Amino acid sequence: MRTLTGIGASPGYALGPIHTIRLATIVPRRRAVAVKDVPVEIERFRVAVDRAREQIRELSDRMSSELGAEEGAILSSQLLMLEDEMIWDATLAAIRLERINAEAAFARTVGDLAGRFLEIEDATFRERVNDLRDVEQRVLRGFTDGAVAGPVPPSVPSIIASRNLTPSDTAALGRYNVLGFVMDEGGNTSHVAILARSLGVPAVVGLRGAAAALAPGQMVAVDGTGGQVQVEPDEETLQRIGLLTRQQVVVNEKLAYLRDLPAISPDGRRMKMMANIELPIEVEEALARGAEGIGLLRTEYLFFQHGTIPTEDDQVRVYTEIVRRMGGRPVIFRTLDVGGDKVSDYLGAKREYNPFLGWRGIRFSLANRALFKTQIKAIYRAAVAGQAKLMFPMITGLDELRQAREVCAEAVAELTAEGQPHTPDLPVGIMIETPSAVLAADLLARECDFFSIGTNDLIQYTLAMDRGNSRVSYLYRPLHPAVLRSLRRTVEAAHEQGIWVGLCGEMSAETRLAEVLFGLGLDEISTHGAALPKIKQVIRWTPYTEACAVVEHLLTTSTADEADAWLADYIATRKRERATEGVNG
Ligand code: PEP
Ligand code: MG
Repeated sequence: MRTLTGIGASPGYALGPIHTIRLATIVPRRRAVAVKDVPVEIERFRVAVDRAREQIRELSDRMSSELGAEEGAILSSQLLMLEDEMIWDATLAAIRLERINAEAAFARTVGDLAGRFLEIEDATFRERVNDLRDVEQRVLRGFTDGAVAGPVPPSVPSIIASRNLTPSDTAALGRYNVLGFVMDEGGNTSHVAILARSLGVPAVVGLRGAAAALAPGQMVAVDGTGGQVQVEPDEETLQRIGLLTRQQVVVNEKLAYLRDLPAISPDGRRMKMMANIELPIEVEEALARGAEGIGLLRTEYLFFQHGTIPTEDDQVRVYTEIVRRMGGRPVIFRTLDVGGDKVSDYLGAKREYNPFLGWRGIRFSLANRALFKTQIKAIYRAAVAGQAKLMFPMITGLDELRQAREVCAEAVAELTAEGQPHTPDLPVGIMIETPSAVLAADLLARECDFFSIGTNDLIQYTLAMDRGNSRVSYLYRPLHPAVLRSLRRTVEAAHEQGIWVGLCGEMSAETRLAEVLFGLGLDEISTHGAALPKIKQVIRWTPYTEACAVVEHLLTTSTADEADAWLADYIATRKRERATEGVNG
């Protein structure tokens, strides 16, 4: 048995065989090319190589900054291969003389070269074949602008192992047969972690090369609570994981009675409990766990899932289905939040040097007004089936909010002119997830109907820590004084203007923080379905006045360590007191 240690990104335990996800291998078809089209094919080859070059450079920079210069240098040999005269000459000759398409010409050239390397009795050359194949696949993807088939889902219940999965990969993977995740990259709020928590399966991320090296079919035990992976576990580990899994089931069953009860404290303060979802299939889970509505629908996943831009009617169909299935409960549609780590080549949101500070969220939507308006029109139309609200991501100031509202007004005018049934007066809210939105919250609150605090990004931007980088994930501290003050300030600004404020970042799923969120005066918590019952239970136990006192004390602490230690101590004392009072849950 071998133990791998990473970051526990989604709690729980699972046991199963490894299913490795690597990008699908592209094998290009050979096609004849007319003489007049030879220059076109040569240009296609140049563009594909340029795209591959750009991608390798970015990856190399990222690896250097996250893993050190040595790791980054590994990819420089791939850059040299892209400039290799032999590869260029042979590929161009095949296009010109044999008149075949560029991708087939290039793949054959690489195949010939790999064959020659393999004939050489030298391990270094053999290793170069892997690099060559990697470069080949990158260039071949460059021909399709990255729009290649997604990962193949497992056919039996499995633990998914990969370097990293993009949101589009996870969307394509779905949820069936997924017992857990083990990833080489990523932190607590990376998207695989969010998906794992939303599916209620364990995840260990930040395994730095060990996950991708696991062999398909190899048995592993995943401890997402402790951040450990046991490879080929011994009998004792199997029994321990089995016991913990059964205990988990018992706890969930015990909490099931809470499903239809409201989150009301003993002194009568109410909190709305909503669910975060990415895909329509999660609606059932949200309802089963007692969600009073959808507090965050990350619509970008619907776009990623299909690899093409859905039409207005396509979107209306999917959105209507979700609104209808929620049976009159509210659904908050967050408009497209691409960019950052949610890259999508077909949408034109490319990888950037500093992606989280780049072209993402509302910036992307305002620059693609037609696409944005289409999505908004679809939401107005779907609202007819129940209750819907609109929310904009990554707002930094009033200009963006006003422009977005202008697009809403245009959307309503067009729908009216077209005679399409729609609900014109949808509440419009914004995510508070940038420090500038916190500082301008009083101004923003005057021109919208609600706030939802996105702590994943807010903590990332406030504490200057990349949420996907395992090296700095230790800086993710929800009780850091700067974060706590931001939360307090946002809630106050909202309430002073008479609007409600919720929180939908991942900190909403941490049971230890439930009392803090309650005491901050939030009106709504939106979290993934699996976490809802436990959070609700805390609120039903905790007098609001007590929660407020907890927050007041935490606001006097000077460091996250101090705040964490105080809270842990406080929770332990309350637990003992409850046990003697005979409260059970
Ligand atoms: C957040 O930033 O907290 C959030 C909820 O949005 P996302 O995780 O999709 O960026
Ligand atoms: Mg966000």
